[in-house]
Amino acid sequence: MIPVKAFAAQNAAAPLAPFDFERRELRANDVLIDILFSGVCHSDLHQVRDEWGGSMYPMVPGHEIVGKVIKVGSEVKKFVPGNTAGIGVMVDSCRECKPCKNHMEQYCAEGMTGTYNGFERDKTTIAQGGYSTQIVCDERWVYHVADSLDMAGVAPLLCAGITTYSPLKYDNVKAGDKVAVAGLGGLGHMAVKFAVAMGAEVTMLSTSTSKEADARKLGAHNFVLSTDEAAMKKLESHFDVVLDAVSGNHDYEIYLKLLDVSGKLLVVGLPKDQPKVNTFELIKNRRCIIGSMIGGTAETQEMLDFCAEKNIVADVEVIPMQYINEAYERMLKNDVKYRFVIDMASLKQA
Ligand code: NAP
Ligand code: ZN
Ligand code: ZN
Repeated sequence: MIPVKAFAAQNAAAPLAPFDFERRELRANDVLIDILFSGVCHSDLHQVRDEWGGSMYPMVPGHEIVGKVIKVGSEVKKFVPGNTAGIGVMVDSCRECKPCKNHMEQYCAEGMTGTYNGFERDKTTIAQGGYSTQIVCDERWVYHVADSLDMAGVAPLLCAGITTYSPLKYDNVKAGDKVAVAGLGGLGHMAVKFAVAMGAEVTMLSTSTSKEADARKLGAHNFVLSTDEAAMKKLESHFDVVLDAVSGNHDYEIYLKLLDVSGKLLVVGLPKDQPKVNTFELIKNRRCIIGSMIGGTAETQEMLDFCAEKNIVADVEVIPMQYINEAYERMLKNDVKYRFVIDMASLKQA
């Protein structure tokens, strides 16, 4: 077994605290990664605090992982020691069902194996995530990362990046499309970067007045305060796409109203309470709500290659592991610019 240091939650009310545990020895298709950076996703906070129900403890969160391959199993083909590599929200799946065969493992018929907060395929070991010094994973769920990119900025691509890239690609967002992004957090800021890179005219819908200048720096062409009813009214039936990356409880109605004929509300935000839908707003303009969960293995590699080509990374605030509980509190106040990323050296030296 491989001993690792980590930070874990022991229950929904406790702060994260140091936790030592062991990773499995490498199987034939496994790689061992020394973790350099681990991004902090709002899903980590939702799950640590059991906001979606069914959380399993102890829980080592973290599913935006970048590091160096330090050892490979006997059958590994994609990696050699020394490669820079990433791991995202999944570490396994059934591998046999139709979605798995199509490399859309996030929609595995048996359920994907999450990087943490669930059992591994053996149904007994709790998978533990990236707030740790090392991780072992089957190479299918490990991605190549270009060394030309800033590593701290790469980590959030593994969740915030793929989760926003995938629905925008699925919807074939292209030059001239009018796209709005709701919620300027980790996911929202990546959505702005991708939609701009795809050529769309991008409007940021935010509840925070303080974020306008940043939204424009990220490439947004327009900024609208979503609490400003008059400004929102002017945008009714205006957009082809609204991407909802909101973490807090909210109503879909204010965003649905903004969609033009056949417009789509792409939902990636997962608040604690189920959002309400006004069906009259839904049928008007033949509007459509599409949910989307991260992205499959093939698309995740495609996204990372796209980012390397376009030099896209997340805007990050690098923190030591020991700052995580304060970081969660700041995330709840919408005070993140625009992703906390843990420098795992802080845990290795502790
Ligand atoms: P985040 O960094 O905390 O950003 C969320 C942003 O939403 C906030 O900065 C804020 O932006 C806005 N917001 C928060 N509460 C709001 C409310 N009540 N009404 C309107 N806007 C509000 O979170 P994140 O890491 O980007 O994650 C966003 C959501 O996506 C989370 O629920 C997360 O669990 C989910 N998620 C889903 C997937 C998936 O596969 N679908 C993957 C990863 C994460 P402004 O200040 O601009 O208003
Ligand atoms: Zn995430
Ligand atoms: Zn499957």
